[in-house]
Amino acid sequence: MSQLFVRTLRDDPNDAEVPSHRLLVRAGYIRRAAPGIYTWLPLGLKVYRNVERIVREEMDAMGAQELQFPALLPKEPYEATNRWEEYGDGIFRVKDRKGADYLLGPTHEEMFTLVVKDLYSSYKDLPVSLYQIQTKYRDEARPRAGLMRGREFVMKDSYSFDYTHAGLEASYAAHRAAYIKTFDRLGFDYVIVKATAGAMGGSKSEEFLAKLEVGEDTFVQCTSCGYAANVEAVTVPTPAPIAYDGVPAAHVEPTPDASTIAKLVDALNADHPRADRPWTAADTLKNVLMMLVHPDGTREPLAIGLPGDREVDQKRLEGQLEPIGVEPMTEDELKQFPDVVKGYIGPGVLGEESKTGIRFLVDPRVSEGTAWVAGADLHEHHVVDLVVGRDFTPDGTIEAAEVRAGDACPNCADGVLETARGIEMGHIFQLGTKYAEALDLKVLDENGKLVTVTMGSYGIGVSRAVPVIAEGNHDELGLCWPREIAPADVHIVAAGKDATLFEAAEALSNELAAQGIEVIYDDRAGKVSPGVKFKDAELIGVPTIVTVGRGLVDGLVEIKDRRTGEKQDVAVADAAATIA
Ligand code: ATP
Ligand code: MG
Ligand code: MG
Ligand code: MG
Repeated sequence: MSQLFVRTLRDDPNDAEVPSHRLLVRAGYIRRAAPGIYTWLPLGLKVYRNVERIVREEMDAMGAQELQFPALLPKEPYEATNRWEEYGDGIFRVKDRKGADYLLGPTHEEMFTLVVKDLYSSYKDLPVSLYQIQTKYRDEARPRAGLMRGREFVMKDSYSFDYTHAGLEASYAAHRAAYIKTFDRLGFDYVIVKATAGAMGGSKSEEFLAKLEVGEDTFVQCTSCGYAANVEAVTVPTPAPIAYDGVPAAHVEPTPDASTIAKLVDALNADHPRADRPWTAADTLKNVLMMLVHPDGTREPLAIGLPGDREVDQKRLEGQLEPIGVEPMTEDELKQFPDVVKGYIGPGVLGEESKTGIRFLVDPRVSEGTAWVAGADLHEHHVVDLVVGRDFTPDGTIEAAEVRAGDACPNCADGVLETARGIEMGHIFQLGTKYAEALDLKVLDENGKLVTVTMGSYGIGVSRAVPVIAEGNHDELGLCWPREIAPADVHIVAAGKDATLFEAAEALSNELAAQGIEVIYDDRAGKVSPGVKFKDAELIGVPTIVTVGRGLVDGLVEIKDRRTGEKQDVAVADAAATIA
């Protein structure tokens, strides 16, 4: 301790809102360099490296191969996938001396896709999983809680490459299993939640959320079955479309009048009663789902309409429905989402006439041109029913933000949903062919045919893990690390002035070190009192604290468990054996 580059602080830093941030700064693990950008001090670096080692061991064990990309990346691959634009202010962009654009990598799908394309060309090369543990840069709007949401942070990101969907499923399952092992070893409480609704041909995705009140994600879990989902991903089966009297066939009825609404409210209360309170007219005005009924009778959800208060609708749209589109969108803006939005009807079109105004976002499956000229084409070619429910998304699922504690579980008949907070520690995602298509990654299959590679991407917040583990492992005195994570195994305090104390403490340190046990030895003499040394030992939080003090005259040292506070006096000669 007399040599270690550390200064513990008695007072909390004033920018720290969460315990892990306060303690990591006070105990001398990290220092802030700029907002959301931190320096690892020697103690912090040890902890960070322990986390990194565990992550690396589990990735290697599942057969993924480590490589490392640069953090400074050329713009072109990110332009090919449109992410140079999509990221907006979210990335750090730099120019070289010739004026060429670069970015600091926020995530590396593009680079991994290209390196596989560079080197591989046959199905025989697959499957392969590659990973790196590397610094990422994101210009987060609200960096917070120290390392939890940094603008520079370390991520383990891996990517799997397969040429069949079954292969992708297997790679995904292998990563999932490796993540469970990794997070069990890291020793924090977590829940695996669905991360996407999985509808609209969507890809499978799950998040590993550390259960923490200070987290920024809200998830729901069922009180009865194992169902758990990020609220953004909750799917509840769409109630059967409710046809109602008075709407003629082949007629679009976007803004029902008062008597129609009254009928709908009655129909809803009769056929789909709500548990908490009856449906009201306000519900019908808030959430209108347009059903597209094809001439052959098959139905599909067409759009959600959100008539009513403009400002409220605007907020809802901004919060919930980006990037499908928000009002008011110009035709030019719509062209940015060619795959998603085929058409859009604003209040200017239908609303003027009907006074209430209706806007809706159109499901991508609507055939080309149909919805854009809804007034004409929809009338002619399709029958639209009007369905009223709560918070429909374009694919017919119910919007997550509206899920409340106490709602029925979408997965089983018995449970209700309860909500809790968490922070994302890992994310596994079946990307499918999105990046392979954009960057033209194909291999020859068994029949000599070119097939597009299908990919998975899998992230772990390696630097985020440090504060997350700290959140679950501290008390009022300081940190108490799990042994595999701690910066050392034993913290030896020489408590007194007598030279023989220091000799005995140093001898014990050396003995332990010789057995491969990592020791912090508080050899500070002079003005540093035993009280200060004990406080520092508790704050730093190494699992075992050994005091070489008054007991030494009787040949004893005290061994204390930092977490439980349990103490035992042990003969000096037996100390090393007891600790090991
Ligand atoms: P979040 O929802 O917390 O913003 P994300 O979904 O944007 O995370 P991904 O792109 O899925 O993050 O990245 C993989 C992992 O990287 C996340 O699961 C998380 O653990 C970690 N991570 C993401 N952003 C940050 C950050 N700003 N600081 C520290 N770790 C981060
Ligand atoms: Mg994010
Ligand atoms: Mg996330
Ligand atoms: Mg994520």
